[in-house]
Amino acid sequence: MRKFTGDKLILASHNAGKLREISELLAPFGITISSAAEHGLEEPDETEDTFAGNARLKAHFAAQATGLPALSDDSGITVEALDGAPGVYTADWAETPNGRDFPMAMEKVWTLLEAKRALLPRNAAFHCTLCLAWPDGHDEVFEGRVDGQVVWPMRGQNGFGFDPVFLPNGEVETFGEMDPARKHRMSHRTDAFTKLVQGCFG
Ligand code: IMP
Repeated sequence: MRKFTGDKLILASHNAGKLREISELLAPFGITISSAAEHGLEEPDETEDTFAGNARLKAHFAAQATGLPALSDDSGITVEALDGAPGVYTADWAETPNGRDFPMAMEKVWTLLEAKRALLPRNAAFHCTLCLAWPDGHDEVFEGRVDGQVVWPMRGQNGFGFDPVFLPNGEVETFGEMDPARKHRMSHRTDAFTKLVQGCFG
């Protein structure tokens, strides 16, 4: 596995929630981080049908464009009773002509579960795939997940995306209600990040 030896890293994401969480996770490493947006990069179309495929696509695009190593995150929620939907299409389900509307996307998930009379608990998992890509075309990929259930109604103002309807196993608060530090201790992003640190920063 290739080690990260530089001092500059591009975060290949335009998602403010992800940028905040990844920057916090990277803070102890003393790396100068900049976002793809700061480099004037567009977001490439996510044309793959796996988290890893889209993570690789985004990281390589940013590494090629900037000549610097780039870290991407592709993530989403899979709901067992919906055969894994929305999965890699989690962000797409929130798309409207006026931008992303996550309350609408969460309601869609709940409505589909109700229509199917899905049994409780409505098992779900958050997935996160991180890809660290270098300008020479090499990459390393790490997968993380956290298991839980979809609950209704939405609860909490913390976090982003689908956090208000995700109750992790063994917890009483949704990711939306939870203190961000507590979410960090158990999240899919932290799980993938721990593997990245062991593999490339160890
Ligand atoms: P993408 O990786 O850009 O395709 O977007 C994944 C989508 O999954 C995000 O826009 C969020 O809605 C959702 N998502 C990923 N990670 C989290 C999380 O930690 N909390 C809540 N929603 C998340």
